[in-house]
Amino acid sequence: MNSPYGFHFDNGYARLPERLFARCEPTPVAAPVRVLFNGPLAGQLGLDACALDSPDGAALLAGNTLAEGSEPIAQAYAGHQFGYPNMLGDGRAILLGEQLTPDGWRRDIQLKGAGRTPFSRGGDGRAALGPMLREYLISEAMHALGIATTRSLAVVATGEPVYRETALPGAILTRVAASHLRVGTFQFAAGQRDPALLETLVDYTLERHYPELSDSDNKALALLDSVMERQLDLIVHWMRVGFIHGVLNTDNVALSGETIDYGPCAFMDQYHPDTVFSSIDHQGRYAYGNQPAITQWNLTRFAETLLPLIDTDTDTAVQKATNVIKSFSGRYDDKWLAMMRAKLGLFGEDPVDATLVQDLLDWMQRRQADYTNTFRDLIDETAPVDEIYQDDAFENWHQRWQARLSRNAKPLKSSFCLMRNHNPAVIPRNHKVEEALNAAVRDDDLGPTHRLLDALSHPYQDRDDINDYRQPPKPTERVLQTFCGT
Ligand code: AMP
Ligand code: MG
Repeated sequence: MNSPYGFHFDNGYARLPERLFARCEPTPVAAPVRVLFNGPLAGQLGLDACALDSPDGAALLAGNTLAEGSEPIAQAYAGHQFGYPNMLGDGRAILLGEQLTPDGWRRDIQLKGAGRTPFSRGGDGRAALGPMLREYLISEAMHALGIATTRSLAVVATGEPVYRETALPGAILTRVAASHLRVGTFQFAAGQRDPALLETLVDYTLERHYPELSDSDNKALALLDSVMERQLDLIVHWMRVGFIHGVLNTDNVALSGETIDYGPCAFMDQYHPDTVFSSIDHQGRYAYGNQPAITQWNLTRFAETLLPLIDTDTDTAVQKATNVIKSFSGRYDDKWLAMMRAKLGLFGEDPVDATLVQDLLDWMQRRQADYTNTFRDLIDETAPVDEIYQDDAFENWHQRWQARLSRNAKPLKSSFCLMRNHNPAVIPRNHKVEEALNAAVRDDDLGPTHRLLDALSHPYQDRDDINDYRQPPKPTERVLQTFCGT
């Protein structure tokens, strides 16, 4: 159905068995005012950015009115949170519909913070402005970095307070996703003990994300393998740019392969594999260096849900699923090393590569070097001159790296080009994100948020006008903890 805003919904999920979701409408808010709006994304979705840039548009993005063709639902899902199973479901997110874009894509349009749903448990169904701006900033930064992610169309202030430790301004984020199918969606369906329901979900997932697999002999097994492949690619990208998701629970693993759910996530400044920012991650379960192992764990939970469809004989099903799960480590190691080679400008494969990479990481860890800037500093004909590099261990490493580069069958400038494309110059550093959010929330000043968004829009380019976004935090600026803000 067409609408004056360009919405063109076709809501496949709302046609699935009703156990998988609950129909529920957003709860209207007092005074919706648009805070951020993503014009280019609106264009890609086929939406009319000008029409949405109006009080009526703000009302729509707050859920006060519904676009034509919306069939609002809250999706059911379960999940392992920090290792423990839980029934969850969208407690504060309402899917308006699936937008058919001019390019032939299908994208979920969801309001996050739109009010209570049957899955809200004790929660208020609302979100605070700071965390919604944070999701907008970081998801758009991820997109600009070339990493699969849900996107952010708008943040609308509600004109109502939300009560956390203190009263905070409320807001609603419009999230755009390839879908909101999660490992947790399958955990919920498996818990219903109805193989037909599970099979419907497998078919839906294949149709939506892996149409090339719909003729497979063993669709469930093929799905497991392909979801793993996309997760591997995703995690390797996170490791490349120093991203720490922070709450890698099974309900936050999207089957599309997109990064989803930006809570206490953060980018690492100084390199250390144990880096954790999330205030609720006391054991370091979701530390930077644990992300591959946790992803394998999450995929094992996914595999468990698929067993009845993989084979009617349970032992055979377990055997087949285990073979896929066991392939994770080897596949990860290969992809990770290939990624690290690109970060170091190395073409081809050489027996010294793995050690060369590890020795640099170990040096960075010992010297508390900045992960982003170290790789970027290497892109030069001569060795970097900053004080931190005036060290025998680094000089030795640099000579070995130069020797390896000389064995490339390509000129040095090709290596530098490769490095520029794999090592961002600018990432959303935590202290800059916090600075922008504080200005927006405390002082009603969106200037720093807009400047940060601009700085993050072309992260692989050297730009003199954004140098302050490239500096690591001074000791006094360091942000040690990030919060979910739920
Ligand atoms: P998250 O940490 O964002 O992945 O959220 C975990 C679960 O808690 C999800 O089911 C959310 O929908 C739910 N949730 C988070 N915040 C709220 C809230 N303020 N009200 C209701 N449910 C919430
Ligand atoms: Mg979540």
